[in-house]
Amino acid sequence: MTDPAPTWTIVIHGGAGSMTPDNLGAAEEAAARQALAAALEAGAAILRSGGASLDAVQAAVRVLEDDPHFNAGRGSVFTAEGRIECDAAIMDGANLDAGAVAGVRSTKNPILLAREVMDRSTHVFLAGVGADNFGRAHDIEAAEPSWFETPERRRQLDEILANPDMPFDSAMKYGTVGAVAVDGDGHVASATSTGGLTGKKWGRVGDSPLIGAGTYADDRAAAVSCTGAGEYFIRLGVAHEICARVRLAGWSIEDAADTLIDELGDLGGKGGVIVVSPDGSGGWAFNTKAMYRAMAMHDSAPEIAIYGHE
Ligand code: ASP
Repeated sequence: MTDPAPTWTIVIHGGAGSMTPDNLGAAEEAAARQALAAALEAGAAILRSGGASLDAVQAAVRVLEDDPHFNAGRGSVFTAEGRIECDAAIMDGANLDAGAVAGVRSTKNPILLAREVMDRSTHVFLAGVGADNFGRAHDIEAAEPSWFETPERRRQLDEILANPDMPFDSAMKYGTVGAVAVDGDGHVASATSTGGLTGKKWGRVGDSPLIGAGTYADDRAAAVSCTGAGEYFIRLGVAHEICARVRLAGWSIEDAADTLIDELGDLGGKGGVIVVSPDGSGGWAFNTKAMYRAMAMHDSAPEIAIYGHE
């Protein structure tokens, strides 16, 4: 007798924001949907063949980091000084292992660096030049600034510098990337990667690489990856808080995700989350107009969406 096919779920996001069919345009929308499909399939292929959720979320995020349409890796936004500083985190729900990096400038795939921190250091979180140096010492591929930079991100920086009072939401049309998954063994994992906010200053770090804020995974509860106004996600500890409501209060992942996004909105924050639970359910919640998102399950066709009404 052959083993039954593994049951699995993967959910990914490419950032929350104020995208509409008008301001995105048909070509950009098609490219984003194609990239989401490719990233989803990179993760799903691993899960389908019995691989681990940790490897699946890493693979999905890596595809989105390499795609210039998303604010992570190649295509990251510029700081006020005209540099690119990337943040990323990964977490294994099976044993609460985690790795994270912030403000890295010369590592091609920040998510691979976060994984390396998790697997081959005694630390959880490395920042700045030290994190890049750790990567070089561990043969994690480097890249020149020109690899990360795109004309569209340069234009967005110029726009922000010319309009310093521009509302945050209009600056986050294209976002951070993330993935959560549960594999055939019921283990959950989460990964998030971002260039942060356009025009960020003073070494600002958002929620994405902070374990418990933008990224969390715990087999006793759920896996969560966030996107949006990072400061609010940090203050609420959104990713861990969703897991705490599931684990300690017995909430469903849907109720926990919806409620935390409501609480974020009450504070004045905007953004979204993706979630999976060890029993195989998956979903999302967001209070922005749109969120690049996609979900695949072992027994259903992939779902890819951008706008709120989809
Ligand atoms: N959450 C990210 C940050 O605050 C930004 C985003 O999701 O677009 O750095």
